[in-house]
Amino acid sequence: MPSVTTQGIVLRHADYREHDRMLTLLSPAMGRVEALCRGCKRPQSPLLAASEWFAWGEYVLYTGKGHATVQSCHVTESFFPLRNDYERLKYATYLLSVTEAAVQPGERAVELFTLLARSLTRLAYTERDPAAVTAAFLLHFSAVSGYRPRLSHCVRCGRRLQDAEIRWMDIENGGLLCDACQSLADRALAVSPAQVRWMRDVLEKGIEKTGLPSGDAPGPLLGMYVESRLEKPIRHEGLWT
Ligand SMILES: [Zn+2]
Repeated sequence: MPSVTTQGIVLRHADYREHDRMLTLLSPAMGRVEALCRGCKRPQSPLLAASEWFAWGEYVLYTGKGHATVQSCHVTESFFPLRNDYERLKYATYLLSVTEAAVQPGERAVELFTLLARSLTRLAYTERDPAAVTAAFLLHFSAVSGYRPRLSHCVRCGRRLQDAEIRWMDIENGGLLCDACQSLADRALAVSPAQVRWMRDVLEKGIEKTGLPSGDAPGPLLGMYVESRLEKPIRHEGLWT
């Protein structure tokens, strides 16, 4: 029987029969993988930890006929502290949902895997503001997905905007809008110059070298942008309205 070894992060699981779960994994080499995890709900199962939300491990999968089956797994990281912090857990679950909405079977996802693993590590093991970590994730997510937002010019007329002119972001087209173009856009949302500066810094230097946003992190705005690009709604209850 053919088998393959891959890194994976559990994006979701669904109960299957009495003792099994169907896992949706993010694999850097294989993209989205659905894999049956047999017997993992039995007490003492060696696969229990490998079948939990957020589990990151090295999975050995049988890939014979039908869907893949988890044969064994060495769990690298369970992100356990998330389970004791409801606020951080909500943000971390949202990151899984965004990733799950985007990832396709058979499509390499090396950058997305690294981004998700790092973002979950920040949520679980650092004191960083979870809203800022999530906004930074969405920003890098849009960049690795090929639709990095344009944050210096008006996305419609192409005019370079001074900081004092920054007021609007075009959610459909992923960029700033000048006042003249704002009325022509279908979905223009308010954005502050400080938020735009923060997004530029995060894209350029990474969140580790960028301070907290002054004011609110632009998570809701970036969440709407990513949803619009993915063309599917993503649950975000309790994070923002
Ligand atoms: Zn314009």
